[in-house]
Amino acid sequence: MIDFELTQEQKDAIKRAHQIAEEMFRPISRYYDEHEHESPNEMIDTLWSRRQEATLFGGLDLTAALTVEEVCWGDAGFYLVAPGPCLGGAAVFAAGTREQMERFLKRFSEGGPKWGAMAMTESGCGSDTSAISTTAVRDGDEWVINGEKIFVTWGKRALEESDGFVVVWANIDRSAGRAGMKSFVVEAGTPGVRVEKLEKKLGIKVSDTATIVFENCRVPFDNILGSPEIKKAAEGKAAGFKGAMATFDVTRPIVGAMALGVARAALDFVKDVLREEGIEVRCGSPRKNLTTIEKDVMEMEANYKAAKMLILRSLWMMGQLQPNNLESSMAKAKAGLAATKITQKAIEIMGPLGYSRKYLLEKWMRDAKINDIFEGTGQINMLIVARRILNYSRDELK
Ligand SMILES: Cc1cc2nc3c(=O)[nH]c(=O)nc-3n(C[C@H](O)[C@H](O)[C@H](O)COP(=O)(O)OP(=O)(O)OC[C@H]3O[C@@H](n4cnc5c(N)ncnc54)[C@H](O)[C@@H]3O)c2cc1C
Repeated sequence: MIDFELTQEQKDAIKRAHQIAEEMFRPISRYYDEHEHESPNEMIDTLWSRRQEATLFGGLDLTAALTVEEVCWGDAGFYLVAPGPCLGGAAVFAAGTREQMERFLKRFSEGGPKWGAMAMTESGCGSDTSAISTTAVRDGDEWVINGEKIFVTWGKRALEESDGFVVVWANIDRSAGRAGMKSFVVEAGTPGVRVEKLEKKLGIKVSDTATIVFENCRVPFDNILGSPEIKKAAEGKAAGFKGAMATFDVTRPIVGAMALGVARAALDFVKDVLREEGIEVRCGSPRKNLTTIEKDVMEMEANYKAAKMLILRSLWMMGQLQPNNLESSMAKAKAGLAATKITQKAIEIMGPLGYSRKYLLEKWMRDAKINDIFEGTGQINMLIVARRILNYSRDELK
């Protein structure tokens, strides 16, 4: 039976995350929005030093989603600069062997702050992840990687500011189609990899989004995640293209939780202002008696809660080792759209108060949109949902 009643442990984790959001993130949120690419080093060091606290807000499970929502209520960009295995770690977790998990993830328990990035997107390959043109060619006991990846979150921090790594997706045999797509761990300091530039963005400006170039970049043979064989699956672990998709099943609900945090920040702001002005949202009153603002706030709240239920369910399924591909895409699509709509509606309700840079509401609207773009756009996740429900293959429904 699914039961989302919070345990005491989860309540404590949420409380800790909220404290970080309120005391550490909110006071400097505007500064880093206005100083793009400046790094909040002091905060990074503090978060790293506190990482041993149980479920600070790392991880990929249900408790993690609850804490991610909480810290993103404070500032979603800061969540994305918090050191840890991040998306690169999720890729190792989804496609790597036990030995690789041990080898690549051990570093996160020692030394200074570090990050793990994942590079899939290229200028000709975003939603259609199978169109990857980056290549990895075997040369003796090494792979030689060539290509350019764009929009890599944590790219600079992983490769230039720490001894982290980037998981790069490349093709080892183009004639094999999707089955030839594999992922490789490229560690910081490897010759042949460089950060070309950082993107200037609409929102989450404190997060580094890098273009990374691989030029005859050589990595050890056993840095390929999972099996080097071109086949559908290896020893119960997803391989090749399936490995990439399995990564998203794990990470999409967490991105959904980021969206929830931003949406709730906007919703709380609206409710606080209305309360201060003596306007009560009369839940339970007949619809015909409600004002437009009351209906709007209720709709925002319903969308937020619906997205949250979908996120919790997809992560609960993952915890039960049940396939959650449909549910994770559903949750991500709903949460990305809900956050976009809720933040925009909040500005509409607040008018100039929402548009002014005096408050963070306009920033949250800019921050919210990314949740409907990365880890699969809203449209792509809806496409996955449609395929799953209608039982169509990828080729039958594009
Ligand atoms: C800030 C930021 C951080 C990012 N971080 C990472 C990262 O860490 N690693 C990484 O690999 N990538 C990252 N990305 C890339 C991101 O995942 C892609 O931008 C996203 O998947 C969309 O791909 P695209 O940009 O090529 O757009 P396109 O695929 O060209 O899509 C453009 C539009 O067309 C729509 N569309 C495309 N195909 C279809 C279809 N079949 N049906 C309906 N609509 C469709 C899309 O929904 C979208 O609205 C990041 C992007 C941003 C902006």
